[in-house]
Amino acid sequence: MVTSTFNVRLAAAGQHLERAQTLRVLQLNLGRLCNMRCSHCHVGAGPDQGATQMPDAVVRQCIAAMDRLQPRCVDLTGGAPEMHRRFQELVLAARARNIPVIDRCNLTILLVPAYQDLPQWLADRQVEVVASLPHWSRESSDRQRGDGSWEQSLEGLRRLRAVGYGTGDPQRQLTLMTNPDGDRLQPLCDKVTDQWRQELARHGVTFDQLIGLTNMPIARFRDWLVEKGRLEDYQQVLENAFNPCAVRGLMCRDTLSVAPNGQLYDCDFNQMLDMPLSGHTIADVMPENLAGRSIHTGGHCFGCTAGQGSSCGGATVAVP
Ligand code: SF4
Ligand code: SF4
Repeated sequence: MVTSTFNVRLAAAGQHLERAQTLRVLQLNLGRLCNMRCSHCHVGAGPDQGATQMPDAVVRQCIAAMDRLQPRCVDLTGGAPEMHRRFQELVLAARARNIPVIDRCNLTILLVPAYQDLPQWLADRQVEVVASLPHWSRESSDRQRGDGSWEQSLEGLRRLRAVGYGTGDPQRQLTLMTNPDGDRLQPLCDKVTDQWRQELARHGVTFDQLIGLTNMPIARFRDWLVEKGRLEDYQQVLENAFNPCAVRGLMCRDTLSVAPNGQLYDCDFNQMLDMPLSGHTIADVMPENLAGRSIHTGGHCFGCTAGQGSSCGGATVAVP
């Protein structure tokens, strides 16, 4: 394997990255079809991406893999994963195996007429909703996701609350995922979370947990950095903020990311950069093919180890 600058920094810190013995998250990327087109999107999703949806044969392979791999969680992402026509079938397959499910929801999809029954449907199956909302303020959020998206997102959150999400019910967990507005880091702490709670409560919105994701210098956000002439500076910000303590909790250790074509990756970001795990697909992978395997890294990995660390589950070190 090519030694990346990231691996050099890891080695200097006395660390190395390899996959864990057990699989925690089976993350299925159902395709890049989305009703939105956000400027920070790291998968380049949009309404014109229908051709990228996971085909039926791969959906069947994913369901079969739930039995072989026995993940502790199935994480459905996209695009807007709900727009995949077999989204509900995947949820039901996981729940029938007693596997918890996460729906990575952009909130505005809940206002599209075809999906208005979705909050109750998800609630009835105890699906955890991880919802992206860049910021509690209208200005900051709309800048990233488009004019009017903040108001639509809050309406989506109110509809989730109406069926019990974000009210402390362990069966109806609602996590909000924030990301910085532009090329900076945005550390979270209890004080920030309290501010989110207060500001959103004024609009009839509550949530169970707030987590942060660092903007990754790939796909559409990378294009934005290039356009602004800020790519190198941002990469330097990430590298300067390298935190060896953030390595232990990196999601690539115990997550398997599955592309719409069934190809396997250590994470969603590697999927976007076409850095696959060779030798197997979701059709045939076994737990022993993953355990202890080296993780593919690159300069983008500094996005996961900057400051508090960043992953689909939020910070990788304890937030003060
Ligand atoms: S960030 Fe999420 S909601 Fe926005 S375009 Fe990408 S997948 Fe869609
Ligand atoms: S991008 Fe992050 S999650 Fe993916 S391999 Fe690099 S460090 Fe791990």
